[in-house]
Amino acid sequence: MKFLGTSAADSIPNLHCQCAHCMEARKRKGKDIRMRASFLLDENNLIDIGQDINAQSQKFELELYKLKNIFITHSHEDHFSLNELLNISHAHKNGGAKGREKLNVYLSKPAYGYMEKLYAAMRTSPFNESTESQYVNFIPLDYFENYEVGDMKIYTLKGNHDAYGEGEKSINYIFTFKNGVKVLYASDTGYYPDETFEHLEGKMDYVIMECCTTDSKNKGKRAGSHLDIKGYLEMLDEFKKRNFIDENTKIYATHMSHSHDLMHQELQDTFDKTDYKVVVAYDGLDIC
Ligand SMILES: [Zn+2]
Ligand SMILES: [Zn+2]
Ligand SMILES: [Zn+2]
Repeated sequence: MKFLGTSAADSIPNLHCQCAHCMEARKRKGKDIRMRASFLLDENNLIDIGQDINAQSQKFELELYKLKNIFITHSHEDHFSLNELLNISHAHKNGGAKGREKLNVYLSKPAYGYMEKLYAAMRTSPFNESTESQYVNFIPLDYFENYEVGDMKIYTLKGNHDAYGEGEKSINYIFTFKNGVKVLYASDTGYYPDETFEHLEGKMDYVIMECCTTDSKNKGKRAGSHLDIKGYLEMLDEFKKRNFIDENTKIYATHMSHSHDLMHQELQDTFDKTDYKVVVAYDGLDIC
């Protein structure tokens, strides 16, 4: 598994921005340069396709033409770029995707509704063929439902992060691989409502969760549709209480924004002082 991108919506540095974080990131480079959040489960399965997917594919020398399934967390552009997705039509037109099976793209029902509107608006653009039916299967998902995709089992959770679809909240995914390994992908999320906590089942081997901002405002649970450090730790407390994680669970923070007071290393140092062994992810980090 690989982190392709670990930033919030506008990446770090934001190209327009001269805030302290962005200026320091330009200086430090390395782990402080972040592209839009995306995560590769394996060569066939991707979570989120944002505006940076092509750059990520080039940077990490990926063969993303092998993808079979893309799981969309929500309809915000940093997670779901219909443009990048529909570039598949150019591959087909050029004969470069001959014989390829349709790409499956999973998204929540509200996100599906939003995608249809967006797609309709794009029919006046160069993507004016019925690309959807030819090359891509869009598959609407319910919250709190079990699915099977290939040899993976999937359970969908309702995040606490509003997006563009009508009544849309992000989907968080629990993936169970053939070997029994369980992964929670929770980005974007916000602090879970009780309903979601009550639906948590099993013990996670991996938790990958957004930590969008610093806790300087110290809002925690009340931080709204993203998690700050306090909210992140409060989520872990609740997970622990419910035996959803234990000391063997590997925990990663992703989707950092430049509104963080802390750079990569300082954020890692902060987590190192807590009860949890959280690893601050960076672009290109491989985990298995
Ligand atoms: Zn996001
Ligand atoms: Zn900035
Ligand atoms: Zn979002």
